[in-house]
Amino acid sequence: MVFERYGEPAEVRDVADPEPAEHGVVVRVEATGLCRSDWHGWQGHDPDIALPHVPGHERAGVVEAVGDRVTRRRPGDRVTVPFICACGTCPSCAAGDHQVCERQTQPGFSHWGSFAQYVALDHADVNLVALPGELSFATAASLGCRFATAYRAVVRQGRIAAGMGSPLLERS
Ligand SMILES: [Zn+2]
Ligand SMILES: [Zn+2]
Repeated sequence: MVFERYGEPAEVRDVADPEPAEHGVVVRVEATGLCRSDWHGWQGHDPDIALPHVPGHERAGVVEAVGDRVTRRRPGDRVTVPFICACGTCPSCAAGDHQVCERQTQPGFSHWGSFAQYVALDHADVNLVALPGELSFATAASLGCRFATAYRAVVRQGRIAAGMGSPLLERS
């Protein structure tokens, strides 16, 4: 699915298949989410997007092609990725903060995303998450953006834990 101009209807048509970077893979998309951030991109709010553009930043699928320097993944692996694909080597990545990687890529923003049959994912050894067989592609596609965003807000920042009551409920 491609759009040529911000805010105008996207169309479904044939596009060139992506090639994997030497550190990356190409994944055959089995499921992809639709998110408010896709709307922002389509509206022209994201300076990373270059037209024409294929959106889609929440996906899961099967590794189809592997770059020469990828060692941990092979064709046929079922995978998903975080919202941010990190480089794995910059100071932010070294500190464990991949979400603010200085050389990050965001498939669906910095390059074409997963509203397509195939998507290129960079630094595969750093970013790809293998999926257990019982996890559906549709469920896995929700993990990188929407689940991780909510999880960090509730668990890491809000420090909500099992057994904690709601102050609002306790007062009522
Ligand atoms: Zn999203
Ligand atoms: Zn980095």
